[in-house]
Amino acid sequence: MGKPTGFLEFGRETPERRPVPVRLRDWREVYEPADDAVTRHQAGRCMDCGIAFCHEGCPLGNLIPEWNDLVYRDDWSAAADRLHATNNFPEFTGRLCPAPCEGSCVLGINQDPVTIERVELEIAEHAFAEGWVTPVQALPTGKSVAVVGSGPAGLAAAQQLARAGHRVVVYERAELPGGLLRYGIPEFKMEKAVIDRRLQQLEAEGVEFRCSTMIEDGNLAAAADGVTRVAASTLLAEFDAVVLATGATSGRDLAIEGRELSGIHLAMEYLRPSNLVREGRLEQSPIDAQGKNVIIIGGGDTGADCLGTALRQGAASVVQLEIMPQPPEQRGQQNPWPQYPNVFRVASAHEEGGIRRYSVQTQRFVGTQVVSGLQLTSVDDQLQPIPGSEEVVPADLVFLAMGFTGPETAVLDALGIDRTERSNAKVNDAWVTSNPKVFACGDVQRGQSLIVWAIAEGRSCAAAVDASLMGETALPAPIVPSQVALR
Ligand SMILES: Cc1cc2nc3c(=O)[nH]c(=O)nc-3n(C[C@H](O)[C@H](O)[C@H](O)COP(=O)(O)OP(=O)(O)OC[C@H]3O[C@@H](n4cnc5c(N)ncnc54)[C@H](O)[C@@H]3O)c2cc1C
Ligand code: SF4
Repeated sequence: MGKPTGFLEFGRETPERRPVPVRLRDWREVYEPADDAVTRHQAGRCMDCGIAFCHEGCPLGNLIPEWNDLVYRDDWSAAADRLHATNNFPEFTGRLCPAPCEGSCVLGINQDPVTIERVELEIAEHAFAEGWVTPVQALPTGKSVAVVGSGPAGLAAAQQLARAGHRVVVYERAELPGGLLRYGIPEFKMEKAVIDRRLQQLEAEGVEFRCSTMIEDGNLAAAADGVTRVAASTLLAEFDAVVLATGATSGRDLAIEGRELSGIHLAMEYLRPSNLVREGRLEQSPIDAQGKNVIIIGGGDTGADCLGTALRQGAASVVQLEIMPQPPEQRGQQNPWPQYPNVFRVASAHEEGGIRRYSVQTQRFVGTQVVSGLQLTSVDDQLQPIPGSEEVVPADLVFLAMGFTGPETAVLDALGIDRTERSNAKVNDAWVTSNPKVFACGDVQRGQSLIVWAIAEGRSCAAAVDASLMGETALPAPIVPSQVALR
């Protein structure tokens, strides 16, 4: 149970972040390496509660008190086993998860919660450093599954299905696997080598990746862009089952006066080429913030990723706008424990520069051909414009980071899949779409969400595919779609 008095002896402590002037000169992750002794003290703060609410908070059902205890006892190998029992990719979630588990940690009722996410990351890093991440081999079943999309949902489904003995081929239209882990999330949040070393394990387990390969409707004109086109009907004919994990990256636009001016981009139009430059696949991004006044519309995480990217490119100024009021520093009465706390958060990018403004609405973009500014107005508690509060803020570049409207629909249409009212792929409780051979998981069926949900859905979907192919399954299934909708 960790150290019985650990929560009394030690306060919450996470590793230092590297100095801002240093990290702005490179794109490396922001944290200094962790000290094992500190991590063990932190794991020792876990109280092994009678009813551990952190399980409930984690969509994967990670066995948090168990691995906290093993880390406290210095048994990192057993901790890595327990962690991998529920999570295929703890090195992703340990870096990038917003940690709903910590929001529901019982210690958090009257103290700072256990640093669960950080302990998870340290276990994963020990596992790689010690060579404990090895391929898991399975007896072949003779069945085959195509997975479309290689984000965390597709990767988790592929790994689970390969471990059940099926032949798995992952189709990915991008140059390399990873989905938003590689082409959305910037290097300073997770270095891409972290994805590559995990992919080696999947390949050694037999997962085949066919990248630069787009699944579409059958209009297979010769590709001028180096991307091979494969008809969706080919997958249906050649595989026993198809898993769709194509994500939901259609960005929400802002249809106001001046939107046609150049210099205004959806966030993903900016982040993707920036990541390609970091990867050495593009010499220079067509959208570069160096010396520019940048405005980011949208106060969430995608906006923070644009902020950190613009600062590293040498932007002259960056302002991040949000129509909602600034969240409180502490939980409000309407947001009690163990709910996820809706509080003011400071991402690493916010420490690095830029200005955050709340309760403001963009009325129109200003400029001739190229954007030169934004007309803003302040809004009241009902989000109504406050008369007389108009102002024009200069801008050479504007990024729209206001969320996502749903998946791209071409591949769904090509496979004849029904959609929800939010235009996501519709699935039943066995993750099956309206096409009985096609399953769907991750953002394509859930809408833009989180990595931890994508992994949980990929694992659960794989169990459903295995059960449908074999009549039974030994694969774990942490979640069911209809129950997830309630969370
Ligand atoms: C900028 C940004 C930052 C984020 N940061 C975080 C974070 O810090 N923490 C967090 O938990 N979540 C974060 N998220 C959300 C998280 O990345 C997603 O919820 C998660 O990646 C969804 O996984 P997925 O596998 O469903 O889809 P995706 O990761 O979107 O992967 C889908 C894949 O399918 C491929 N594909 C699509 N159509 C086709 C086709 N027709 N043929 C072949 N391939 C196709 C795409 O190229 C892509 O690689 C962020 C999202 C964005 C946009
Ligand atoms: S995956 Fe996220 S919610 Fe689950 S234990 Fe890790 S940090 Fe917590």
